[in-house]
Amino acid sequence: MARYTDANCKLCKREGQKLFLKGERCYSTKCALERRNYAPGQHGQARKKQSEYATQLREKQKAKRFYGVPEVQFRNLFDKAAQRQGKTGDNLLIMLETRLDNVVFRLGFAASRKEARQLVTHGHFTVNGKKANIPSMEVKAGDVIRVKERSQSSPKFKEIKEMSITVPSWMSVDVDKLEGKVVALPRREEIDTPIAEHLIVELYSK
Ligand code: SF4
Repeated sequence: MARYTDANCKLCKREGQKLFLKGERCYSTKCALERRNYAPGQHGQARKKQSEYATQLREKQKAKRFYGVPEVQFRNLFDKAAQRQGKTGDNLLIMLETRLDNVVFRLGFAASRKEARQLVTHGHFTVNGKKANIPSMEVKAGDVIRVKERSQSSPKFKEIKEMSITVPSWMSVDVDKLEGKVVALPRREEIDTPIAEHLIVELYSK
């Protein structure tokens, strides 16, 4: 049987960690990382000692890929995080978590962040009753995210209404209404993303 070599899965193999880029497949035994947990390519199995810089760079790449944020946008986000009060690394992760596409994914309205981005761009959501079609929009505490009325009858969202959804502690969801709320901004300890943010701070502080 042919081996599954999706480009997204190669990213996970590169990082040696599940980045959950493919929706349901990521939680199944079909996940490419369940079968071969080493980097793609001829030298993928070789054990290499990484320099400090390479370790920091990999962590930044991992965070970017995990949240699906392009390089320039990621750097801008870091700069904003550095200007805010508190720890830059914590601020960065909180800002990544509160992007609208990530919030839609966390609410269970999309199977992956990539799908969430598409759904947001296609205008299926409102925030506080207003059209919201920018995936990078920063969602605030108290904001209500809802599937638009006319999108609610689509097979995709009808299926979600039948599901039992568990959301992180900083959110609440009403599946019948296809509506979620950011109850409070997440604290660092409420974010389960496997990222060592201090390495990204070190990288950008050079
Ligand atoms: Fe592919 Fe998802 Fe597994 Fe990553 S976590 S290797 S994207 S199936």
